Amino acid sequence: MLFKEVIHAIRPHLMKDAEVPSFMRNLIQMLCDIPEDEWYTKRDPSSEESYKDGSLRKFYTSKPTKKLAGKMLSRLTRDNFIESIHDPNRSDIVLDGLAEDITPFAEGVTKDNVGEKLFDLLKRGLEELIDPSLENTRREQEARYKSAQLKGQYGSGLLDDCSNTCSMPGCSHHLQKFADDGRSTPDYEVLIINEKKTPSFSNICAVCHDCFEQYILKHTAHERKELETAKELQIEARKARSTISDVNIDKGIRMVVESLINLKPNTLTSLNYEPTFIANKIDENENIFLAETVKNNVTKYFFYINQIMQNLSRQKQYSDELVRVEIKTICQRLEDKGLSQTAIYESISKQIHRITKQNMIYCDIVVCYFIQSCEVFHDFTK
Ligand SMILES: [Zn+2]
Repeated sequence: MLFKEVIHAIRPHLMKDAEVPSFMRNLIQMLCDIPEDEWYTKRDPSSEESYKDGSLRKFYTSKPTKKLAGKMLSRLTRDNFIESIHDPNRSDIVLDGLAEDITPFAEGVTKDNVGEKLFDLLKRGLEELIDPSLENTRREQEARYKSAQLKGQYGSGLLDDCSNTCSMPGCSHHLQKFADDGRSTPDYEVLIINEKKTPSFSNICAVCHDCFEQYILKHTAHERKELETAKELQIEARKARSTISDVNIDKGIRMVVESLINLKPNTLTSLNYEPTFIANKIDENENIFLAETVKNNVTKYFFYINQIMQNLSRQKQYSDELVRVEIKTICQRLEDKGLSQTAIYESISKQIHRITKQNMIYCDIVVCYFIQSCEVFHDFTK
């Protein structure tokens, strides 16, 4: 609520030591010329003084009544308010502080115009108390304005982080518009995940227009948490990309992946024992899905891939040793960055995908091979 947010922001500057009731009484008197007796809706017969103070406190912690807001709007005293703010006894330091603290709510506030700006803000705040739909419109406008600004600063990186797909969990909207002639244009908004924090890189993400609007108007703490988690994963993946972007995997790896694509099922010989290494390298209590995936792929494809690699090496089409060193280096770097095992697995798989341009499903199988053959992950039981 604008009115409440603004009066909470200005109180430390205007009447620092005064109790809330005196602050509110003073503020209302600056804003309008309605006699105090008309401010309150009903009287408490026991003690008029404590009743009035109680009401003023409520106006501060919650909001003035709709009735009072309406009356105030019809009898605002703009000049009086601005004069009181720019009272000759008020120091420049106070005016500067005041200007700084209402900057989040209005543009271009300086110590010279802070009286006017503040009056306009409070007036808008009162209008919103009477017609709450105005508040939604304002919040949407503000969010769009900030989105446009943030696009300029972070836009393309954010789109890259979410692979051009809305960052909101549960939404799969594409964030580009395609024209018939093959041209594409970005089509998205930048959303501030936690409004109470600064809109820095870790607190913003790219989303589609629908999710943007819905989130701006209303979201639960749970929804915010979910979006925060999605953002954390994006940051982790970005970290992984930048960590390994300069380590190349020899392009011979393509031959290995391609041989998987041409694999005939009847040529497979499965391992006839549990791949024991895996149990020591992936903690099943923490990563059950990863452990199972690796176990299955290793059991099915380890022998086959091993054979392919040996054959290709003999034919000098694949430098076995080199690739192992490269994969090991990548894994080590990602581990040094503190990435989770799942993130490391995915990053290496994606790196293989970038080289081979083949489906991720084959790249995953190759990563599983390297886990079993010890290039990826180390024994955590030792
Ligand atoms: Zn969406």
